[in-house]
This record gives sequence, C-alpha cells and structure tokens, in this order.
Amino acid sequence: MDTLIRQTGEDVTRAEGINMKDSLTGLDRYEVFLEKLEKAIEQIGDARISIVYTDIKHFKYINDTYGYQVGNALLRDFVEEITENSVRLICFSRVYSDNFVTANILRPDITNEQFKEVIHKVNLEWETKFREKYLNSRLQFCTGISIIDKNSRSLDAETAVSNANLARKVAKEMDSDCCVLFDHSMMEGIKREVEITSHVPKAIANHELKVYYQPKIETETLRLIGAEALVRWQKPDGTFVYPDEFIPLIERSGQVVDVDYYVYRETFKFLADRMAAGKNVVPISLNVSRIHLNKMHILEYVRELFEEYQIPSGLIEFELTESIYLDNTERALELVKGLHKLGTKVSMDDFGSGYSSLNLLSRLPIDIIKLDKVFLKDDTLQESDKIIISCVVDMAKRLSITSLCEGVETPEQSDYLKQIGCQIQQGYYFSKPIPQEEFELFMDQKSGKV
Ligand code: C2E
Ligand code: CA
Ligand code: CA
Repeated sequence: MDTLIRQTGEDVTRAEGINMKDSLTGLDRYEVFLEKLEKAIEQIGDARISIVYTDIKHFKYINDTYGYQVGNALLRDFVEEITENSVRLICFSRVYSDNFVTANILRPDITNEQFKEVIHKVNLEWETKFREKYLNSRLQFCTGISIIDKNSRSLDAETAVSNANLARKVAKEMDSDCCVLFDHSMMEGIKREVEITSHVPKAIANHELKVYYQPKIETETLRLIGAEALVRWQKPDGTFVYPDEFIPLIERSGQVVDVDYYVYRETFKFLADRMAAGKNVVPISLNVSRIHLNKMHILEYVRELFEEYQIPSGLIEFELTESIYLDNTERALELVKGLHKLGTKVSMDDFGSGYSSLNLLSRLPIDIIKLDKVFLKDDTLQESDKIIISCVVDMAKRLSITSLCEGVETPEQSDYLKQIGCQIQQGYYFSKPIPQEEFELFMDQKSGKV
C-alpha cells in the first residue's frame, strides 16, 4: 500500500519501471495505450474512434482532506465505473494523476454530438454517486472528446489524444459544461493565445502598450473628479488589441502582473510630470488582476512607486473586481488593508456582474462600489434594474461607501442616477477611454464642466 500511496500524482511510468501496467489501477501504461490506439487507427476503415479524456476537478481536495488512501480508492472506483460501462473499448489508460483516457469504436448509428451527450449524462450520474460516497460536493468530471475517422486531418494517436485533452481544458474552464467535443476552431484559439503571450514582453519593452484614461464625473456638479486607467495594445501596424481579449490570456500565463505594473508606472509618471509642471491633476484608479493575490508583490511594488514618484497617495485608487473578493475573501481583505495602509482607496469593481456579494460588503472595508454596466444595458432603464440600482446606491450610502455607476451612455440614465443620489458616473455619455494627450485637455479645463 505504501508504494501505491506514493505513486498518486506522480508520473506513472517512472514508478513502473519496465512494467506494462499502472500498478495503482491495473490499466495499460500510457505508452502502451498509444501503441494500441496507433494500431487501431491503422485499421480504421469506415469506423470512427472516440478518444475520451477525463480529469477529476477538485480531486486534490480529496487527497488533501482525506489522505492519499482515499484518493487512490476513488481513482480505482472511477476506473471500475468506466470499465463496466464502456463498450467496444480499444484501450484505457491513466495518463498521470487523475487524468484518464479511453479509446472506443463508436457505434455507427450514433452521431458525434449524441455521443457527447451520452458521456455528459454519465458524468453527471457519476458526479452524484461520487459526491455522496466521497463527501465532496464540488467533485466534477471534466471530459474532452476527439472523434476521428479516415478523413480526419491528422490521423495519429498522439494528436488525437492531445486534441481530446485540449477539449478537456476548455471543459474545465467552463462552469456550465463538463463535456466538450474537440473542433479545429479550438486550435485557432490556442494559436492566438501563443501569438499574444509570446509577444507581450516585446510589447512592454517597445511601449506598444498604451494607457488610456476614462473620465469619471461627479453627478452633482458634472465636473471631472477622476479617471480610470485602461490598457490598450497598439500593434506596430496601428491595429489595437483590446484588454477583453488579451487580459484573460495573460492572466493564465501570469504576464498580467508585468502589464499591470507597466500601467501603474505610466500612470504614476503621468501624474508626477503634471504635478511637476504645476498642472491640475485628479485621482486615477488602476485595475488589479486576480493574479496579484497569489504572490501579493503588488503592495511592495506600489510602495516603491510612491517613493519614486512622490505623488500624494490620495491620487491613486485600486479597482478589484467583485469576483476576487468572493474567490479568496481572506487574501482580498489582506490586500485591501495593505492598500489602505499605503493611503489609497479601494473599490469593488463590476458590482452585480456575477454572484451576489452583498454579504461581503459589511465585512470588507471598501471605499467605492462600481455598479457594473449590466444594469444599464438598455437605453431606457428597466423598472427592475432601477430598483436594484437605487437599492445598491442607498445601501452604499448607509455603509458610508461611495457609489459609482459605470457604462452610462444616455442622458436619461445619467438623470436617473442623479435622482437617486449616485455620486459618480462613468461612461460613453461623458467620454470613452481616451489617450493621455486628449485626457490632459480634460484636466487642463480644471474644474470646468464637461
Ligand atoms: P472594466 O474594469 O470593467 O473597465 C470598463 C470597461 O467598460 C472598459 O473596457 C471601458 O472601455 C468600457 N466602458 C466604459 N464606458 C462604457 C459604456 O458607456 N458602455 C460600454 N458598453 N462600455 C463602456 P476596456 O477598456 O475594453 O476594458 C475591459 C476590461 O479589461 C476592464 O473592464 C478590465 O477588467 C480589464 N482591464 C483593462 N485595463 C486593464 C489593466 O490595466 N489591468 C487589468 N488587470 N485589467 C484591465
Ligand atoms: Ca475597472
Ligand atoms: Ca468595471
């Protein structure tokens, strides 16, 4: 048992030596699986072969909470379920840890989509069963499927498994669907991801990243009282890549930390230069990626920026998106406290865009709530959205939190926000995010109305 325990999560092949079987599960080693699949592909004829790659989400929790013996038992249970339920099985292997792959000949009367639905249903049934047995309500089976026939673009075992694995990764990222069928557009996505992430360091070094500023307007006076810094990537050919596309990709690669720091430095420098020239300045808010919570270097970096540029701490604010507070409340609280120590304000960005974070508001020392633009999705406000907005604004007031509504696009929306006492507004109605030079014109007007 001791060896079995040590093997969980390790490279199966390393532990196995010359053995052809994985000793934990009794399955073929992955190399053997590939050989068998390769042979089946050679003889594919008019058949279709499905490669089903499954990974158990939150398996680590079982190991961490109940120990490796229970984790091992779960893996063996899982293998038993698949073995019992698989028909026309060609081969079955544990790739590593909790990652399994099977290859089957598909029944001729079933479409690829129908096959996916079958697997989806089975996954849900197993989830219920395993959640009860192993007392983990979050356990989930994430599956990617690739199906090949004689006309497939690439007909080799490794590509087929790697395509199924790619679909599995897509499934793992989606909350709603635990089962995804591979298609070639996913390769386009990967190509784009590689293209973007491999160019980020150069984009930073060559100043292809630009900081745009979107004005924030005080409702009562309609005067400029701040701005939000938003990154833009202008390629050498003049085209733009927008943050909605590249931020999620560079969050995965971790490069977002460097991009954020670049934006922060540019903003500090911008404010310091204007102050040195005796010009008017307003507070600027900076977006904080969730990735900063992993290492928390951000506090040290911001402290150094204040030291280097000597601008008043009141000129900088930080925006943390609502879901950060929910994902990791303790860390987020630590970060908010650290930023407060540096003298900056902190907002809850995108409030209302995701899950309800109402209960967190009383626990977190937030200075500003930024109501998400989803509430203003229609030019004329829906009655239900009006109720929610006015309640949030009212609640913020009682908690001594400033309320800001983003995505204001029409005078009607702006008037309504005034009527209910929302203190700050931001949106295309007043201005889109604009380049620094243009924003300087706004600031030069000093206290002038927009
Ligand atoms: P966000 O922080 O919620 O930023 C607001 C987004 O809404 C911006 O998109 C802005 O251009 C857009 N917006 C502003 N007013 C209106 C309006 O009236 N109507 C509509 N429909 N949209 C409006 P943008 O600049 O494309 O940024 C998208 C997201 O990318 C941001 O959402 C933020 O989450 C992220 N992001 C942008 N810059 C940075 C950055 O420097 N660091 C990090 N970590 N994230 C950033
Ligand atoms: Ca923001
Ligand atoms: Ca926002």
